[in-house]
Amino acid sequence: MEQSIESQDNKFHYWKDPAPDKIGPTVTEFLKRLPGPTHIHVTGTDSSRCRAVATLLHGNEPSGLYAVYETLQQQIRPAVDIHYFIPSVDAARQAPGFIYRMLPHQKDLNRCFKTPFGNSEQDLLAEDLLENLRRLNPECVIDIHNTSGSSPSFGVTTFMDERHDALVSLFTHRMIVTDLILGSLMEISDSMMPTVTIECGGAEDTESNRMATEGLIKYITYEDVLSVKHTDMSLEFFHNPLRVELLDGSDIAYGDHSLMKDGVTLLSDIEHFNFGYVGPENCLGFVSGELAANLTVLDIHRKERLLDYFTLEDGKLYPTRRLKLFMVTTNPEIARKDCLFYLVEGD
Ligand SMILES: [Zn+2]
Repeated sequence: MEQSIESQDNKFHYWKDPAPDKIGPTVTEFLKRLPGPTHIHVTGTDSSRCRAVATLLHGNEPSGLYAVYETLQQQIRPAVDIHYFIPSVDAARQAPGFIYRMLPHQKDLNRCFKTPFGNSEQDLLAEDLLENLRRLNPECVIDIHNTSGSSPSFGVTTFMDERHDALVSLFTHRMIVTDLILGSLMEISDSMMPTVTIECGGAEDTESNRMATEGLIKYITYEDVLSVKHTDMSLEFFHNPLRVELLDGSDIAYGDHSLMKDGVTLLSDIEHFNFGYVGPENCLGFVSGELAANLTVLDIHRKERLLDYFTLEDGKLYPTRRLKLFMVTTNPEIARKDCLFYLVEGD
């Protein structure tokens, strides 16, 4: 452990103003030098104000960490103090690096930001992050992720106003507005401070690191990031997407023909539909057995909407109407534990 890093048992380690020669020659080396969950504090020109950034809540989503590394390496002087929170260092470090969303026995950290907190390591870390934010009282928070499949970038918010629009438009012009309560960090927007999620696109997409870095540099150097003055970009909004989830007892695979005796097979290139329209003419995959025994689409009132949106014809899965899909994954683990994709109705 570096001497400049103070250890705070089981919580975020604090590291103030890391010098470029202390962070290593590459982002992988930087990751190795983090002692565990780390809070990096960078002093800005105006230290009476501060902003916060969370990233690497998921260990397999490196674009935010890459962007943090770049700003430290380039010694970019922020306009105000910046607090970086980097929690899932242990998961990210597992060889060959940036493969695990979380360690196999752990909960998804970005589902832990809600009361009552449990006793797991992840719950305690979420609680510690919130305590830090309460204490520091930043003007705003951004949480930088990668999508699990290849995808264009977008922002997500649970709160609609100019401040949230302004934050997202530093990075991207697509904005998802959701009322879903999942326990994600951005849900603190109601009670604490403006907080948005930035999804940079897939970890494998070459564009993702660049957009994360460009957006982060604006976020830390602009005097004002909470009014839309800084942007001429008009946002494209997607309201209240619904989650398409696998039911207990079903399972999922990806391929060009049905691979499951009981379960769902989605096309292996389904992530190409991310932010594109699909309609009744687009086969999305195959389902063996009853559609309603395998998939579920609950609306905000917990009402089942599956058959409004999907139908089976000879075992093939089709939308019933024009839909826009996003967060489409081809990672069966994420599909099982989280969801297959989100949808909104097309115009
Ligand atoms: Zn994520």
